[in-house]
Amino acid sequence: MSGGGDESHLKPATRIVRGGRRREWTGPVVNPPVWRASTHLYDTDADRQAAGGNNADGQFFYGRRGAPTQWALADALTAIEPGAYGTVLYPSGVAAIAGVMLAVLKPGDLLLMSDNAYDPTRSMATGLLARMGIATEFFDPADTDAYAALLDEGAKAVWLEAPGSLTFEMTDVPVLTSLARQRGATVMIDNTWASPLGFAALEHGCDIVMMSLSKHVGGHSDLMMGSASAGKRWYAALRRVGQELGQVVSPDDAALAARGLRTMGVRLEAQTRSALRVAEWLEAQPQVARVLCPLLPSHPGHALWKRDFTGGCGLFSFVLASDDPAASARVADALRLFGIGYSWGGYESLALPIAPRSYRSVMPCPTGGAPALRLSIGLEDPEDLIADLAEALTQV
Ligand SMILES: *Cc1c(COP(=O)(O)O)cnc(C)c1O
Repeated sequence: MSGGGDESHLKPATRIVRGGRRREWTGPVVNPPVWRASTHLYDTDADRQAAGGNNADGQFFYGRRGAPTQWALADALTAIEPGAYGTVLYPSGVAAIAGVMLAVLKPGDLLLMSDNAYDPTRSMATGLLARMGIATEFFDPADTDAYAALLDEGAKAVWLEAPGSLTFEMTDVPVLTSLARQRGATVMIDNTWASPLGFAALEHGCDIVMMSLSKHVGGHSDLMMGSASAGKRWYAALRRVGQELGQVVSPDDAALAARGLRTMGVRLEAQTRSALRVAEWLEAQPQVARVLCPLLPSHPGHALWKRDFTGGCGLFSFVLASDDPAASARVADALRLFGIGYSWGGYESLALPIAPRSYRSVMPCPTGGAPALRLSIGLEDPEDLIADLAEALTQV
């Protein structure tokens, strides 16, 4: 569902504050109240029948179609996604990926997937989708010729992720989307890293953009949710399949996610600034072989990032100059200010030993077999984080 009045001329920071806060949903308070509802009551049976016939969000019907708390969050996400007509919410990012795949693909189709896609996305392709008779070919997003040849095998759709999970290679999204478009293939993208504030995926040729809201949007490491946004045609398909699958998010979580969303812009700016500071420092350390962070001018994808993106975030990886596979765990254990954990994008910093090589089929893996860590830089003072890393790197 599109926003209330057209506010698309406003700057992103303004839209993120205003999105979804319709008077009929908020009443006299700032945020839409938490509507906990399975049953919506009707005044008359004629009202009940009229509501059932109107298969739209923003209409009370039954709890599975949501209430103002969920509608307001979806509306706010649409307001910050240039080119979107509507947004569907899912109980996790992975559920959003499944909802998108099932809206686009059917048995017999061929899917092309960027080789550096998030590991559970790869597993969905080789598991659930394969069992349904949907074939997947992984491709190296830097190898345009091989990609075009796969498209010519009759691919129905393409799954992109930029930068890629764990190793952060950048992708020339406009080139890959235009090759897909010329052949009638649908392009889906996982935009969790940049969020719409950092990358306007639909305006760069993608048809559907998904995000794990558990990361930057929630922003406080206390909720699981996902979303998918698209223009009119694909929004209708996403919403239909979402309802067929029975996907709904709790109003309490929707309220938390909306609350996180309001400050996402300033958090991302601060975390991007700190991440660049930490990444630059790491690059100069003798115990570090390589820093995998497109914010760095030395990164091979930096020019693409500067050309297409308007922001970044605090997530990147680095490779240790060591051939001891246990070195990454020793560094993680020695850190005091970084928690060890999955997920990311919260206000607190995290470190995670990674071994991405087993999740690659066709791309060279920039960590090789060396020990490596992924960092999610939070809102602490970066000088404290650097001092903590300096101490922990004495383990290498
Ligand atoms: C975390 C993540 C997801 C999945 O999100 P969940 O909310 O954890 O299910 C999808 N894509 C990327 C890039 C992620 O990092």
